[in-house]
Order: sequence, then structure tokens, then C-alpha cells
Amino acid sequence: MNLPDFRNHDELNRLRELMGAPYIPDIKEKLIEGITIKRPDEVRVDSDGTLLYKSQRVVRYIRNAKSYLDTRGKLPKYHIVDCKVVNSNRKRYNDYRKQEEAVGRPAIGEFILNMSGDPKIEKLEKHKLIVCEFCLEKLELKSYINGKAEFVIEPDEFPLSDWFDAIEDGYEPIDRITTNGSNYIAAWKFLSWLRRKNDNWTCQKPECRIDLGTERSDRRFLHAHHTKGTQYNKLEDLIALCIHCHSKQEGEKHSQLRTTSNYQEFMKKYGDSIRSRNPKNLPSRQSTAVQEYNTFPFPQDNTTDDDIPA
Ligand SMILES: [Zn+2]
Ligand SMILES: [Zn+2]
Ligand SMILES: [Zn+2]
Repeated sequence: MNLPDFRNHDELNRLRELMGAPYIPDIKEKLIEGITIKRPDEVRVDSDGTLLYKSQRVVRYIRNAKSYLDTRGKLPKYHIVDCKVVNSNRKRYNDYRKQEEAVGRPAIGEFILNMSGDPKIEKLEKHKLIVCEFCLEKLELKSYINGKAEFVIEPDEFPLSDWFDAIEDGYEPIDRITTNGSNYIAAWKFLSWLRRKNDNWTCQKPECRIDLGTERSDRRFLHAHHTKGTQYNKLEDLIALCIHCHSKQEGEKHSQLRTTSNYQEFMKKYGDSIRSRNPKNLPSRQSTAVQEYNTFPFPQDNTTDDDIPA
């Protein structure tokens, strides 16, 4: 059931004003400006390592950033996962009280900070903060090659609103990812989402070009394929392919995509359109391979073809 949005209901708002009742913003609205937390355990860590505040996915940052700026000459970073800085701050929470730890979901990466140096006095300023490198490291979006830091995405270009959208995209079949740990699941979800969004939710094979961006649930039929092998994760090493074009890529894991229920659903919905675009290289409609597998199709080996899911 869809309830009307009572907060934007003119008649109710008029009545509320008549009664002299204050307008209490919804938690999502409050999170755009940031909420100072009172206890470290108000922030929960989700199974993918991301941070939750009252069931809302958030980032964590220092709101009263003056003393940090004064002592280090730069503004503090914001955290997207439970990195080692978040962890140690949690343990030494009382030492940091004055810094006012906050959670938020700033709309365009601009944070409202209190630059007074005193939690009792508000001197609010808007600042762009940069994502924490330890968070990126935990997500394997930062690594070291010959001792030199390499980023999959540069910290000052981190697209925070895309991060939230990607992590909360409910159509990602993450259970099919064979990864070495949960950290990478969030990162892969993000990278895959970003690649597909940047490719306009359209299959990049010139002979296909099927647009899967109109219906949100169709996004699961679009995958991000690793063009240079699964160890190369930069956005330029990925390409958006529909599940059909992806299944035609080299390697057994790719051909096995044809045994998945997503592939069946995709061909049922788009098969005719695909056939008319590219009549060659198509499985016949009577393909029986599909019927032979109904369950989780990928062999449990140690190869990490992480690009299989969307
Ligand atoms: Zn961090
Ligand atoms: Zn692939
Ligand atoms: Zn395609």
C-alpha cells in the first residue's frame, strides 16, 4: 500500500501551522545536513561493511572539524565503510567528543561542518570532503603496486551519490559472486553499477545496443564484463554487456550464463528483438541447455570470474 506523503500535504501542513506544531523533518532530510551522534553504537555495520544509522545507509565524519584542521592543516575525510579509522575512533570515542562525530547522506558530497571549534557554538560552513583512503583500501579500491598507491577511483573523484545508489540497488544478484570476502561485494556492486550507468544502461556490443535502462528491474540483465581479466577493475577495464552478449564472451563461466534463470527471462522478454538485430550466433529457441540447470550454475572452483553477475 502506498501512503500519501503527509509532510508535503498542503492541507495538513496548514492545519499543523494553525495548531502551532513544529515541522519535524524526516530522517532522510536530516541526514542530508548530517546528524551528530551521541554514542558510537548508534552506527551499525551492515554485512557488506557499509554503515547504517536507523536503517539508513550513511557516511561517517567529524562535524566539528576546526581542531582537526588546525592541527593537521587539512579537513578530515569521510568514511563509507567500517575502516580501521572508524574502528579506532569508536574505541576512543570519549577522547574525540569535542569533534562531534556525525553521520549523513550529503546530496552532492558537500558536508555541513561546524567550524567554531566548540560543540556548544554553531558556525556552520559547507565543505567538500574527500573519501577516506583506508575505506578505499578495505574495499580493494586502493592497492599498492611496487609500493606505490593505485586507486581504482581517485579519492577526490569519488561519486558519493552513485555509491549510495549502487549499494542500495536491489536488483543485483550478489549471491552469485565468487569473491574472497564480503568487502569486495560492496566494491564490485559499486563498480559494476557505475560502469553500467556510464554506459547508459545499454549493451555496448555495436551489433546489439539493447537499452536496459527504462525498467529498473531490467538492469539485472546488464552485466559489467572485465575486458582485461578479473584482476583489472578500473572503470575503463569494464564494459556493459547484456546477458546474451556476455554469455558469448570467452570462457566456460560466460557460456554458463545461458543456464541461468535471468538468461531465460531475458530471452523471453527480449529474444525476438535480439534475433532481429543479430540473427547469427544465436541459440535456437529450442535450446535445451536452459532446462538442464535450475539451480546455482557456477562450479565451485577457485577462479575469480567476478564479472559474471550484473
Ligand atoms: Zn575510513
Ligand atoms: Zn565477463
Ligand atoms: Zn547485447
